[in-house]
Amino acid sequence: MQGFALYPFDPPGDIGALRAELRAWLAVNQPQGDIVARANCWASFDADFSRALGAAGYIGMTLPTRYGGGDRHPLERYVIIEELLAAGAPVGAHWIADRQTGPLILRYGSEEQRERYLPGIARGELYACIGLSEPGAGSDLAAVRTTARETAEGWRVSGQKIWTTGAHFSHVMLALVRTEEGSERNAGLSQLLIDLDTPGITIRPIIDMAGHHDFNEVFFDDVLVPHGALVGTRGQGWQQVTAELGLERSGPERYLSSHALLATLIDAAGADPDPAVAVLIGELTAEMWTLRQLSMSTAAKLAVGEDPMVEASVVKELGNAFEQEMPRRVQAIVDCPWDDPGDLGRLLRALLIASPSFSLRGGTREVIRGIIARGLGLR
Ligand SMILES: Cc1cc2nc3c(=O)[nH]c(=O)nc-3n(C[C@H](O)[C@H](O)[C@H](O)COP(=O)(O)OP(=O)(O)OC[C@H]3O[C@@H](n4cnc5c(N)ncnc54)[C@H](O)[C@@H]3O)c2cc1C
Repeated sequence: MQGFALYPFDPPGDIGALRAELRAWLAVNQPQGDIVARANCWASFDADFSRALGAAGYIGMTLPTRYGGGDRHPLERYVIIEELLAAGAPVGAHWIADRQTGPLILRYGSEEQRERYLPGIARGELYACIGLSEPGAGSDLAAVRTTARETAEGWRVSGQKIWTTGAHFSHVMLALVRTEEGSERNAGLSQLLIDLDTPGITIRPIIDMAGHHDFNEVFFDDVLVPHGALVGTRGQGWQQVTAELGLERSGPERYLSSHALLATLIDAAGADPDPAVAVLIGELTAEMWTLRQLSMSTAAKLAVGEDPMVEASVVKELGNAFEQEMPRRVQAIVDCPWDDPGDLGRLLRALLIASPSFSLRGGTREVIRGIIARGLGLR
C-alpha cells in the first residue's frame, strides 16, 4: 500500500523569474484567440504557437540537450505548464508528445528512436497520440486485441483503436498491442511506435457532442512496421503503460481545464461582487489551491523517480470532479441566460457541453476510484 506523505515542491533556480519570463513571452506570442478556445486549452490546436513555444525552449524541457531538449528539472516544466494552462494558451498540438510520449521514449526507447523522434518533439513540430482504447476493451486495457505479429520484414499490425485524440494531426502513435499469440490479459502486450503515414492505416473522425473533431477511430489493416518500432521490452507493455499513465494523470491540466471560467467570473464580478458570487469565488479558489498542493506534491514524487500511481489517481479524480462541477456551480449562482453573448455566457455554454468528458479522458472515474481503493488496501 502506498502512503500519502506530501513531498515539498522544490524546483531549482529562481521560479519567480521563470514565471515572469514565460508571462513576458506569452504577452508577445499568445494568439489573441477566442475566449472559448482559452477554456479547455490543452485541446486547442495551433501549430504556429507550438513551433514558437518549442523554439523558445518551453517544450521538451526535461529532455537532454543532445536530443534538442532543455535539460531542465521536471518541476521547472511543471511551472511552465501551469502558467500556460492558466493563460489558456493553445497547447493541444504538441501536448501529448511533450507530456508523455517524449519522456516514455527517453525512458524505454532505443537510441535510434530517441534520435528520430525527440528533437522534433522538442521543436514543437512532431505530434503524437495515445493508442490504448479499443472498442470492446475501453477501460479494460488488459482486453486489448490489436495484434502485432513479428515476421522477417517487421511487425504486422491488425486491429482497431478508438477515442484516439489527435490521430488526425499526429505523426506517430504509441500503441499498446498484443505481440504474443494466445497471451491473456496483461501478459504478452508490447508498445510500438507507429508512424501514422504507414500504408494500411485508416483514420476516421469521431465528432464529439460539442461538434468538435478531437478524437478518432484508427484502423490497422495488416500494417507493416519495422522491427525497430518496438519500444522497450517485448511483453512489458503493461508495465510501461502504467508508468505512462502516472505522467498523464497528475498534472495541472487535471484541475485547470475550466480555469478560464474562474478568471472570467472574477473579472465579471468586479470590485463589489454579489455576496453569493463572492462566496463561490472563495470556495472555488480554496479548492483549486488544495488540489494544486496535491498535484505539486505528486509532481515532486515523480521528479525523484517514484511511481505515485495512487496519488496521481487521487489528483485526477478530485481534479476532474472540481473542473467538471465548476460550470454547473457557476450556472447555479450567476444570473446568465443560456444565449448570453458575453464571455461568461459563451464560456459557460462551451464548458457545460465539454465537461462531461473530463472524468472520462485519461481513465474513467470508476476505474480511477478502483485504483485508489486497491492502493489503499480497500479492495
Ligand atoms: C475526450 C477524450 C479523449 C480521449 N483520448 C484518448 C486517447 O487519446 N487515447 C486513448 O487510448 N483513449 C482515449 N480516450 C478514451 C478513454 O480513456 C475512454 O473513455 C476509456 O478507455 C473508456 O472506454 P469505453 O468508452 O470503451 O468505456 P468502458 O471501458 O466500456 O466503460 C463504460 C463504463 O463502465 C465503467 N467501468 C469499466 N470498467 C470498470 C471496472 N472495472 N469497474 C467499475 N466500472 C468500470 C467505466 O468507468 C464507464 O463508466 C479518450 C476519452 C475521452 C472522453
